[in-house]
Amino acid sequence: MIKGNLYCCLFLNEPQLQNFIMKELHVHLDGAIKPETILYFGKKRGIQLPANTVSGLLQHISYNKPLTLTQFLDKFAHYMPAIAGDRDAVRRVAYEFVGMKAREGIIYVEVRYSPHLLANCKVDPIPWGQKEGDLTPDEVVHLVNQGLQDGERDFHIKARSILCCMRHMPNWSSEVVELCKKYHNNSVVAIDLAGDELLKAETDQGHRKAYEEAERCGIHRTVHAGEVGPPSVIKEAVSLLKAERIGHGYHVMNDPVLYKELLDKRMHFETCPWSSNLTGACDPDFKKHPIIQFRKDQANYSLNTDDPLIFNSTIDTDYKIAKKYMNFTEEEFKRVNINAAQASFLPEREKNELLNKLYEAYGMAPNKS
Ligand SMILES: [Zn+2]
Repeated sequence: MIKGNLYCCLFLNEPQLQNFIMKELHVHLDGAIKPETILYFGKKRGIQLPANTVSGLLQHISYNKPLTLTQFLDKFAHYMPAIAGDRDAVRRVAYEFVGMKAREGIIYVEVRYSPHLLANCKVDPIPWGQKEGDLTPDEVVHLVNQGLQDGERDFHIKARSILCCMRHMPNWSSEVVELCKKYHNNSVVAIDLAGDELLKAETDQGHRKAYEEAERCGIHRTVHAGEVGPPSVIKEAVSLLKAERIGHGYHVMNDPVLYKELLDKRMHFETCPWSSNLTGACDPDFKKHPIIQFRKDQANYSLNTDDPLIFNSTIDTDYKIAKKYMNFTEEEFKRVNINAAQASFLPEREKNELLNKLYEAYGMAPNKS
């Protein structure tokens, strides 16, 4: 919901930067859970957690200095057993996520997750060392949809979801695309491929076939690529998996020909500045960040949080980094949000409605971008 006074209170000073935030396209549901909710379900279900206070838990699962990918992934193992496999937990996490984003000033968000990583039945292997239960990936999607829709009603913003295939689990991907089809435009708008980029999709028929089916059925497609992996992973995402957006994509800079090609195509890059620092994806010096090149080239990109629980952040963290270290101006923040709206996976009519809200809030003519 746009406040009437939105435009006039923009950019007056740093803390109000968040009033400007409109769209977020790259954030993981399982990386955006309230610590209180983890503690609640851990206690209720008798699941051992590394601590029983919010600050104690955050000491184990969030961090603010770069770690390796393996160390980052280990963080999920600390708390996912408290949430996965529990109907109330899955639904509540989705609901609370919408509230969290509404409070950050977001009016449209696409949140992504692997339905298999929240299930404990009809999933092989059963994740997080859980015992077999009766929550299937299909029901997980149903519950997340309910949580998101209840959140939309109560917090007055729009939330859609993207279902993730996992690079190391090509045997899950055919079900992921079937779930995208079943729940298409009932909260679910797209398919994603997440996980270790060094496991190439071309070697895994499972992902390739899922993306072919997604394209055939009009399901939108994004792929995590070029975050820590080389430009060839981005090339593969675009040519083989027919990605319409790239998750991160920083290492496209190492292949100037590919970069030029994607600039010409207006490929959208879902960038996450603070995340890219903590995962070691980019040089820790923000002044050398690829986003600066994207900005100079007026590339098509957005700013996103990725995993705010683990990075102990909000979208404001990323906007402040862009402002402080990357010289972002009011015009660039507007452009980034309009890019995000145009690259969203909403049906055309809804996309235009959101774009018009942005143009109005930014005091721009409707046809200007
Ligand atoms: Zn991500």
